[in-house]
Amino acid sequence: MPVSEFTLIYRFFSALGRGEAVDLSVGDDCAILRLDAGERLATSVDTMVEGVHFPADTFPEDIGYRAVSAAASDLAAMGARPLGMTLALTLPAADELWLHAFSQGIAAAVAEYQLPLVGGDTTRGPLTITVQVLGALPMDRALLRGGAQAGDGVYVSGSLGDAAAALAVLDGEWLPPPDQVEYLLDRFNRPHARIALGRELLGLASAAIDISDGLLADAGHIAAASGARLRIEPALLPLSPALRGHTSPEQARQWALTGGDDYELCFCLPPGVEPPAGCTLVGRVEPGSGVDCGLDMPAAAGYQHF
Ligand code: ADP
Ligand code: MG
Repeated sequence: MPVSEFTLIYRFFSALGRGEAVDLSVGDDCAILRLDAGERLATSVDTMVEGVHFPADTFPEDIGYRAVSAAASDLAAMGARPLGMTLALTLPAADELWLHAFSQGIAAAVAEYQLPLVGGDTTRGPLTITVQVLGALPMDRALLRGGAQAGDGVYVSGSLGDAAAALAVLDGEWLPPPDQVEYLLDRFNRPHARIALGRELLGLASAAIDISDGLLADAGHIAAASGARLRIEPALLPLSPALRGHTSPEQARQWALTGGDDYELCFCLPPGVEPPAGCTLVGRVEPGSGVDCGLDMPAAAGYQHF
């Protein structure tokens, strides 16, 4: 990109780079982050492409916020302490208004997750946002997908299916009352990575994953990694008032079981361990393999790009 455009981007993003673990932020060849003694680095990267991961008319604030939340959700799922992130941005044009709004969304997420933006890369092309997150874990602990044991309870945070319902609203397939439209769109556009919950679960949960592809698909990853079966009870699924108000309970249940983009956590707790507030028991771990929800529902593999 020409220098003037780069200056623009630098102006929007260079103020978001301060943090507890940041020794050197945007402006040099690398950022330098500090790990405490006895810690190791957890890292993950996620890409969002316009028209694939969000509709083309999504507000730029929401695009920025959601891209960071989706990436930060992987830190939550590991129980990691956020250190910082980098942002690889591909833009069709250096539109100052767009960039301003986008950077506001990024800034909101930086503040919420204490996840400073310490570097990145900027190129021209179809709108694509890639966020790499960096977090710290104790040397001896992490929330992995493997580790669930027969007898453990299966839990989820928050409510499920809201983001999938929001897409149905956007597609004109469902028209709930206005306040619930607002609630659902907010759940799609402004998902909250469960960072605090993940850190609370570290050392408590036997397995964990964030729900990005739908409960059945993501619970399937825990089952596969743990060598166990996860039995999910559809009647126990936590539904928001918006979904409980749907005229078809079957549709609401299907969104909760197979809808992606909620970024809640699914985790397993050994018997006798109390779940944190805001979490709901949805099933049990059993000997066997796969996920069984007692319904004839394709155990959706999640969104497949290829
Ligand atoms: P280099 O040529 O060394 O890769 P760049 O010109 O790509 O450097 O970037 C210069 C500085 O600006 C670097 O510190 C880089 O991390 C930062 N930077 C570039 N693009 C972004 C972005 N989209 N968000 C945050 N920081 C960025
Ligand atoms: Mg570069």
